[in-house]
Order: sequence, then structure tokens, then C-alpha cells
Amino acid sequence: MERRFACTVCGKCCQGWLPLTLEDAVRHAHRFPLAVLWSTVRQGAKAFALTERLGLPLSKKVALRITPLSYLPPQQACPALADDGKCAIHHEKPLRCRVMPFSADREEKDQADLLIPRKDWLCDISAVAPAVYREGKILDSRDFDAERRAFESQAPIVKAYGDFLLKSSPAFKAEMEKLALRPGGGQMILKISPLLRKAGFVDLADFARRQAPVLRRFQALASDQDYARNYADWAVEMEGLQRNEGDGA
Ligand code: SF4
Ligand code: SF4
Repeated sequence: MERRFACTVCGKCCQGWLPLTLEDAVRHAHRFPLAVLWSTVRQGAKAFALTERLGLPLSKKVALRITPLSYLPPQQACPALADDGKCAIHHEKPLRCRVMPFSADREEKDQADLLIPRKDWLCDISAVAPAVYREGKILDSRDFDAERRAFESQAPIVKAYGDFLLKSSPAFKAEMEKLALRPGGGQMILKISPLLRKAGFVDLADFARRQAPVLRRFQALASDQDYARNYADWAVEMEGLQRNEGDGA
């Protein structure tokens, strides 16, 4: 089976949550308000084995996908989306945007349905669009491979972070187990600093200096109370971090 796809640069997929690699999250801390998304994946789902390997198991039947996230309300445009609907940072956009609509958190053979545009998306899947996927293979897999390599290399950090949280907070683990029972699985949004602390390469003071004003900017824009509260809480933490880490504390 062959699938065709071309992006018409309509910008419709450039809104709401955007999962990021850890490296992209750190690199774009001056641009995106950042969080960590925890999602449950049940045994039997196509992504289960890969999620167990790149994330971590919650139980024998549930795996956890843990990813840094540009944390925007569902209808809010990405801050890098220009007025003409194009990406203003095309040459440095996150890996996730380069791989779209494919996704390296699934096996290469399980990508076909991702090529069906969602409601209101103006992707071209007509006969004149280029072939991009054939017999379970991505025809140009360079970005997909790069995203998978990023997932593999950040997996030890993600596992150490996830393991620590589950072991140090039985209440949090119980909440994730409860969420996993929902028919469509569950999701949880957490602040990003504990994940960054597990990643040896992150300069926390520098990260906080770039992230704090972004969180304040999105707090001022937020009409949703949950988003506004999270932005405000995390901004206070980042403002503290930039002082303490800067002082060498
Ligand atoms: S970084 Fe660019 S391509 Fe990615 S979501 Fe934002 S505007 Fe769209
Ligand atoms: S919705 Fe489709 S056509 Fe529009 S920007 Fe996203 S990938 Fe491109």
C-alpha cells in the first residue's frame, strides 16, 4: 500500500500541545512554555512495547510515555507560527515538526493512519502529492530516524526521572494507575524542572532565565484557569531557580 502526503502550510496543526524531545525543549526554552506530559499506554496497543522500552512500565499491563511538551491550550497557535500561516523558525523547528505527520514513538510499520489529515487540516493527500510511505516503510526516513535516536538517547534520563517520581510518591503512582483504567487511557501534566535535574547537560539557571518570561507571557494571555495557574506556579519556580542557581546555591 502506498500513501501520498504534502504539507500545504495551512498552519492548522500548529496549535495546542506539541511534544518535544528533551534537547528541543531545552533549546526552545525562550519560546515555548514547557511542561512534561505523562500518558498511559495499555498492553495490546500498537505502541505498547516501544513505550515500555522508551518510557517505563507502570505495571505488566500499562506503560508510561513521558515527554517534554510545549504546553499550550488546544486552540492556541504556536508562538512560532507567523501571520501568513508559515513557521517563522522553519530552519530550526523542533524535530517533532520535521517528522510530522509521522511519529517515532510508533513503529515504522504503524504509521499509515497518521497520514490521514485530522478534521480541518488542509494536508494534500491527492494523487498529485508525493508518495511518502510504501509497504510499511517511510520513503525518506532521515527525520524519523533522528527522532527515534533522540528518544533512545533520552530514555535513560526519562526512566530515571519517572522511576524516581513513582517511587517517591505512592499517591502519584496510584493516581496514574487510576488514570490508566479510563477507556482512552489517562494523561497528566507536570512541571519540567524535576526532569531537567535528571539530565546532566542542562544549565538550570540559563534554562530558568529563558523560561520564566515565557511562562509570565503565557500566564497573561491565558483565559483557562488551569493553564493560568500552572504558568504562574512554574514561573515563580523558574524565577527562584534563576536566582539560586545563578548564586551557585
Ligand atoms: S515550531 Fe513551527 S512547525 Fe512547529 S508547531 Fe510551531 S509553527 Fe508549527
Ligand atoms: S495541517 Fe497538514 S497541511 Fe496544515 S500545516 Fe499541518 S501538516 Fe501542513
